[in-house]
Amino acid sequence: MKTDILGIRFDDLTREEAAQAGAGLLRSGSFHYVVTPNPEFILSSEKDPEFRRILNEADLVLPDGIGVVYSAKILGTPLKERVPGIDFAADMLAQLNEMGGRLFLLGAKPGVAEEAGSRICTQYPNLVLCGTHDGYFDNEAPVVRAVSQAAPDLLFVCLGAPKQEKWMARWGALTGAKLAIGLGGALDVFAGNVDRAPEKWRRMGLEWAYRLSREPKRIGRMAKLPLVLTRSLGARLRGKGGRS
Ligand code: UDP
Repeated sequence: MKTDILGIRFDDLTREEAAQAGAGLLRSGSFHYVVTPNPEFILSSEKDPEFRRILNEADLVLPDGIGVVYSAKILGTPLKERVPGIDFAADMLAQLNEMGGRLFLLGAKPGVAEEAGSRICTQYPNLVLCGTHDGYFDNEAPVVRAVSQAAPDLLFVCLGAPKQEKWMARWGALTGAKLAIGLGGALDVFAGNVDRAPEKWRRMGLEWAYRLSREPKRIGRMAKLPLVLTRSLGARLRGKGGRS
């Protein structure tokens, strides 16, 4: 079942259900991609129809931000829970580890994907890190070739939004991967350069506040959170949004 939040159709799944669905995609015979929109995605997609289409055509659309969960409530169509991209990524790594599958990490500044990869391999020793590439390149073709030659099953695409979603939609199928996930700054977290909010903050839905306290320059981006809530309220009053 999909839940429409300001034009983006989210999957209403628990983390565990999302992990099960993801495992199915990972074990499938063809390319799939997963997106993890937060309130910023929703607002950018209002001005970028191509981005909106790509988000809505994803195999899984997971609510990454607490702002998305609040918006769903305001719209009268609550989602089961927030499914942070980084948690879904960890669940897919555990699956890949079980399969003994192959992982490619694409994105972030030079050196970050390698460091993230080496930490991931320590935690999931049965998976194969088949390649890494930083996220600062002008020419797409050699990067697509490098990924496809590495023959990954799972591909993390961490170029920031909407770049990573557009990259997956345009090039993903050519990489031969079974599952690509757009994960923003996740490689910085896996590499240990950025730490996640402690569990207690996360449970209270305050991961955004923790992140803001660590990276105050994000204030402009985060100011979009209340904007999405007021838009949702407006949409509710006009009778828009809902399940399908
Ligand atoms: N990035 C990249 N290529 C670019 C722009 C950004 O690889 O051209 C990386 C950047 O280094 C960071 C990630 O994409 O690792 C984006 O992080 P951001 O904080 O925007 O994502 P969020 O976690 O907020 O979704």
